[in-house]
Amino acid sequence: MQYYDSSVYQKIPKLLDYFQKGIIDENKNISHCLLFWGADINLQCGLALEIARLLNCKEGAGADCSCQNCRWIKEQTHPAIKIYTRLDFKETDSNSSEDEDSSKGKKNININQAKSIINELSISSDYHRVYIFCDRDEEGNLLPLNRMNFPEATSNALLKTFEEPPKNTTFIFLTKDKTDVISTVVSRAQSFFVPSLQPENKDYSLVEGIIAGYWNFDKNRVLDIEDELLKLAADNAPEEIFIQMENYMFEILQSNYQNKTLFYRMKEDLKFVEEAMQQVVISKMNIKTVMENLCFKMFLK
Ligand SMILES: [Zn+2]
Repeated sequence: MQYYDSSVYQKIPKLLDYFQKGIIDENKNISHCLLFWGADINLQCGLALEIARLLNCKEGAGADCSCQNCRWIKEQTHPAIKIYTRLDFKETDSNSSEDEDSSKGKKNININQAKSIINELSISSDYHRVYIFCDRDEEGNLLPLNRMNFPEATSNALLKTFEEPPKNTTFIFLTKDKTDVISTVVSRAQSFFVPSLQPENKDYSLVEGIIAGYWNFDKNRVLDIEDELLKLAADNAPEEIFIQMENYMFEILQSNYQNKTLFYRMKEDLKFVEEAMQQVVISKMNIKTVMENLCFKMFLK
């Protein structure tokens, strides 16, 4: 997949200008830990790769520079610029009998992966290393970091490294919402909101007829609601149903922000829906089981 995007200068000129100036500046007051957040992960990755180019090019980093560093970064073959996801890691542990497919179905960036990063960084490099942390699916579509694909144990194993990295090393985290990354990482990073250029999907027309006003539902209806949602999930991509449930809940939250009880309930419910989506998309759990759990958590309160 091609993640380098030369149009980032047109898309987010102010952010690029900030980094350009900061990197060219003698004092380089750009943090070695950057966190990007917003809906458009591809754009965040494009920005991260451009920052990597600004940090590595020794010939002024003009847009059409064809020095080796720039060429490698544009082709995504630079040895020191890495996109780290749970799927881009092969266990090298001799005790492990897992073969080349060991990354298949892997749920998160694990401790072994963290250790291999620490080992790798113990060897010095002539380049400015840039490690971009995010997630992707099997097809290579980029996805944001969250607490499931970048769990606390892994973050903790890397905290010291994030805090005091070797010279010429930058870490960049790509996420949808700052709260999806554990606070100890967020507090060590300089955060930037990357505005999304894609119109966000805010549709909830499929689920509205089923879950509208669900917090007032009669608890006896839970099995019927589950049935109706399962039917929808059979006729559509299950993740679309979860996204629409989230969209509906965000809409309610926005128009009822003074209602504290509803606010706390919905915040919890949003977490349940997010978990359900992860279980289906990443853990490939059976949709019936996932939906049943979700409905019991949401509608039997
Ligand atoms: Zn160059």
